[in-house]
Amino acid sequence: TDFRTDSLHDCILKVISLMESEATSSGHVIHFQDMAADEIFMLMDQDKMTQLLLNIVKNACEAMETNGSIHIQVSRDPKNATLVIADNGPGIPSEYLEQIFHPFFTTKETGTGLGLSICYKIVQDHHGTLEVESELNKGTRFILTFPMADKAD
Ligand code: ADP
Ligand code: MG
Repeated sequence: TDFRTDSLHDCILKVISLMESEATSSGHVIHFQDMAADEIFMLMDQDKMTQLLLNIVKNACEAMETNGSIHIQVSRDPKNATLVIADNGPGIPSEYLEQIFHPFFTTKETGTGLGLSICYKIVQDHHGTLEVESELNKGTRFILTFPMADKAD
């Protein structure tokens, strides 16, 4: 794959623009809260990183019936970037929480169940972490962390 020092903000903005029309047609709103003082640069395959975030945002859109909110929040500490993607959808039953990252696990009639297993692989390839927190009838949060590059090249 193609790893370069690239901007995480660019990926987020790309995902928002790619998902905007699908979200709007379901009445969902995507919010982006940038809590990082500076742009975040990390060693990444930008297409893979975009695919990763797109899968998670798309799942959030699909989980919510209508008029949902998706919050994307980015923050950083000296070493790591943290990205939270939260929705106020139906949540994930606790007995499914471990399985959602397994290939072919889906609760959708026409789902492939591949999205989150690909996400997991992409996170690993970027030496990051991926966690999920979910509460029924409240919503779901995916929390991602990645080591940052020292600076852009
Ligand atoms: P697919 O989208 O094809 O079903 P994924 O691997 O992307 O496959 O997701 C697996 C399953 O995880 C989904 O079918 C759904 O049950 C659950 N899931 C993922 N994201 C969410 C979410 N934001 N809210 C509720 N359920 C979710
Ligand atoms: Mg999916």
